[in-house]
Amino acid sequence: MAPETPSDTGVRQDFIREIITADTASGHHAGRVATRFPPEPNGYLHIGHAKSICLNFGIARDFGGTCNLRFDDTNPVTEDTEYVESIQADVRWLGFSWDDRIYYASDYFDQLYACAETLVARGLAYVDSQDADAIRANRGTLKEPGIDSPYRTRSVEENLDLFRRMRAGDFADGAHVLRAKIDMRSPNINLRDPILYRIRRAHHHRTGDAWCIYPMYDYAHPLSDAIERITHSICTLEFEDHRPLYDWLVANAGLPGRPRQVEFARLNLNYTITSKRRLLQLVTDGHVSGWDDPRMPTISGMRRRGFTPEAIRRFADEIGVAKRENIVDVGLLEFFVREDLNRRAPRAMAVLRPLRVVIENFPEGAVEHVTLANHPDDESMGTRTMPFSRVLYIERDDFLEDPPKKFFRLAPGREVRLRGAYFITCREVIKDTDGAIVELRCAYDPATRGGDAPDGRKVKGTLHWVSAAHAVTAEVRLYDRLFNVENPGAGDEDFTTQINPASLEVVPDAKLEPSLAEAAVGTRFQFERLGYFAIDADSTTSRVVINRTVTLKDTWAKTERRG
Ligand code: ATP
Ligand code: MG
Repeated sequence: MAPETPSDTGVRQDFIREIITADTASGHHAGRVATRFPPEPNGYLHIGHAKSICLNFGIARDFGGTCNLRFDDTNPVTEDTEYVESIQADVRWLGFSWDDRIYYASDYFDQLYACAETLVARGLAYVDSQDADAIRANRGTLKEPGIDSPYRTRSVEENLDLFRRMRAGDFADGAHVLRAKIDMRSPNINLRDPILYRIRRAHHHRTGDAWCIYPMYDYAHPLSDAIERITHSICTLEFEDHRPLYDWLVANAGLPGRPRQVEFARLNLNYTITSKRRLLQLVTDGHVSGWDDPRMPTISGMRRRGFTPEAIRRFADEIGVAKRENIVDVGLLEFFVREDLNRRAPRAMAVLRPLRVVIENFPEGAVEHVTLANHPDDESMGTRTMPFSRVLYIERDDFLEDPPKKFFRLAPGREVRLRGAYFITCREVIKDTDGAIVELRCAYDPATRGGDAPDGRKVKGTLHWVSAAHAVTAEVRLYDRLFNVENPGAGDEDFTTQINPASLEVVPDAKLEPSLAEAAVGTRFQFERLGYFAIDADSTTSRVVINRTVTLKDTWAKTERRG
């Protein structure tokens, strides 16, 4: 692994690293460590995949080993090159490199086929001509053993001939399958003569129409690991019962590699779905704008929303790996995003719902430039200037005509600070004929330039503001959770009925300080008092579009304290 590969938290310990440490110490694989990240290119990567990426590439980094990127593209029907490309972009963005080790299971189709012939020749696989229903019915149940297929005793010669003709296209889809000959009475259903190959006339996104038989995942995966000389094949818990089959195939298919499968608990996040099938449905049914909708738990969605790769890696590291299923609070992910952005995002001013403020004693047409720090704790981020003029905008809810006791912002007769500029006092409230407030008439104190009074006078409120004539108008998109319930789709619920109708709020005419006019897509800011924001890819030269990444409020730490 290249030295620039990020290591944010140093070398950690977990049960998988312990297994690998023990294996290398006892000389397994001559101390070599080789992992892989094996996505099926049938969707975009999500936060669960990010955990797997951080784990596999992280282990390679920590042990001086390698991690391959392998596309598990054995199912021609659901896979697509769009996904292949997005997956590469996402792994790279997360900060990991596969160097030149990018592989496709479909590149192994010849080798996998040869392994199948080896199994047939060894009497360990046979062509079954029962139909799918009979195969299913004869498989038995958890309590009942399976029943041998009438074709199970075919000779090696007959099996070889039939299997070659399956490949040659002599038979219709579904006419035959190739099955491993293991044990129809095994208590582990995965060992009851699992199907290895089926006939399927489908176009593959890489191999085209070269094949009309395709290997099953349970067959292709262990053998792809063996072909690549993977040492530790890390996967999620649902494959634990498949491990005996994994080991059987690795031992019998005639390949030299001896990978070891290790399972860990998949990442589950509350208020979030991490099923590719369901994420695809959100996209195709138009519940979101696409795979990269900022409300999606996809890596591309999180990137567009303004999450940083550092925050996601930190999250993956901190939650660690477990052997038992658990549910992680999505607030914890947001906590790491906030923590990272607090460090790296420059501050800026934006007013989401503008209220006009006229400074009556500031000369008409005059402009002053006040200087503000880009970061309160990091001088290296420098300063910028902001124009101050007679007409400003402040946030509508920073003014109340009849304020309750604990309201310290602007009110009639009240003095507050405009951050980095001056103290102002509200003199008059202007309303339209319906009684709605349209403008405040205020006075500023020229002696308070920079935001402090030389006479030591204090104010309780500090407001953000922008100069009306200089402001950049922007569309700001505010996000809430995509789902209203902690565990969407649990039980028999249709998860699409649990979508939060208020998950996207569009603020059409926010006002930004002018320095943001030139900000590139993806640039992140903290807007004072409003949260962290990122410039969206929908921005054009004439219109700025901004996503709120997270609010400033740390709901996770709060619930922790309460708990
Ligand atoms: P599918 O049901 O479509 O196979 P999948 O989530 O398993 O979905 P893959 O593309 O096969 O998707 O996953 C690639 C890798 O990411 C696998 O090694 C898988 O174990 C891992 N992975 C997927 N989801 C999670 C998750 N929620 N937490 C941790 N690892 C995950
Ligand atoms: Mg999978």
